[in-house]
Amino acid sequence: MSHSKPGFATRAIHAGQSPDPVTGAVNVPIYASSTYVQEEIGHHKGYEYSRVSNPTRTALEQNLAALEGGASGHVFGSGMAAITALCTMMKTGDHVVCSDNMYGGTTRLFNQVLVNYGLEFTYVDTSVAENVKRALRPQTKLVHIETPTNPMMGLTDIRAVADICHAHKVDLSVDNTFMSPYFQQPIALGADIVMHSTTKFLNGHSDGLGGVLIGTRPEHAETFAFVQKCTGGILSPFECWLLLRGVKTLPVRMHQHDENGRAVATWLSQQKKVQKVFYPGLADHPQHALACKQMTGFGSMISFDLGSQDAANRLLKSVTLCALAESLGGVETLISHPATMTHAAIGVEGRRKLGITDGLVRISVGIEDVQDILADLEQALAKV
Ligand SMILES: *Cc1c(COP(=O)(O)O)cnc(C)c1O
Repeated sequence: MSHSKPGFATRAIHAGQSPDPVTGAVNVPIYASSTYVQEEIGHHKGYEYSRVSNPTRTALEQNLAALEGGASGHVFGSGMAAITALCTMMKTGDHVVCSDNMYGGTTRLFNQVLVNYGLEFTYVDTSVAENVKRALRPQTKLVHIETPTNPMMGLTDIRAVADICHAHKVDLSVDNTFMSPYFQQPIALGADIVMHSTTKFLNGHSDGLGGVLIGTRPEHAETFAFVQKCTGGILSPFECWLLLRGVKTLPVRMHQHDENGRAVATWLSQQKKVQKVFYPGLADHPQHALACKQMTGFGSMISFDLGSQDAANRLLKSVTLCALAESLGGVETLISHPATMTHAAIGVEGRRKLGITDGLVRISVGIEDVQDILADLEQALAKV
């Protein structure tokens, strides 16, 4: 058999990692060292100081770049630190076009911190690619999108937006946190940069925060490495090791997340007390065809509307297996109330514009036995 690029699961386990040359340890050690001895002035083994680079981090960065099909990876202490680093590519007066329904923390960073440094942001409904084109200005340097969006699960056509960006010499960055590289490969669809909160599916076990920027061109690698060195918001060796460990099972976890997600979404859509279900895998999702085209699975993020905050509260108070908590992407099922939790900060008007009602519940379906998840939702829904 001829052999080209190793498959995704093989890369998840092996990319960036080879047995330790000194001991043969199959796992990359946690290099808990801030500094590295030098033989003589200017002679070292490629590592000088761990803010700049660390072997555990290098392994992780190469691994994540291989999974996204990028040229470089740089990890940061959280998803927000990664987005902050991304924005250091810009200068005062530069303009960014982004999705109007982004992760709340990203909008807060843009509107409450980065505007103070003279960056300008325009928010558009990127599910209509033409809106991106209309919002471009001569000063536009970056288009930043999230697909699917949180929590409304709206999609953006990555290929269509990438074509618009490239016709205008603007970089496209995609926050790929919800799908993970297993189900969505933005670079193959034309994106220039991929960003993740590794805190979610990439880690998968809700035991560490992190963020990554995957670049496609040499200047991305240079800029992101320089930001790591200058601003210092890097991921620690221990957290890098946890993430390397988590990523090894990304394919099997995502497979199960997807299977459970489809089952829960289908079940929810059959319940009388559930007014609407938002999940790209359902045939009635307005962008189901696009989901089938640009994703290889639908994942396990689902939102559904119970009609009122009272109904949502009754459900959330009654679940026992599903944990009422922010965050997503872990092996355990997490359930949350966007209006009072993740999207409280954008206010009533902001939520109204995005369609986030007081009765909306978001669930990150874990990989427990799906009949147990369904049984928990069923008994909780009975109390609504
Ligand atoms: C969680 C999240 C972030 C922020 O990441 P942190 O690791 O919490 O800093 C950014 N984008 C998306 C889509 C997220 O879900």
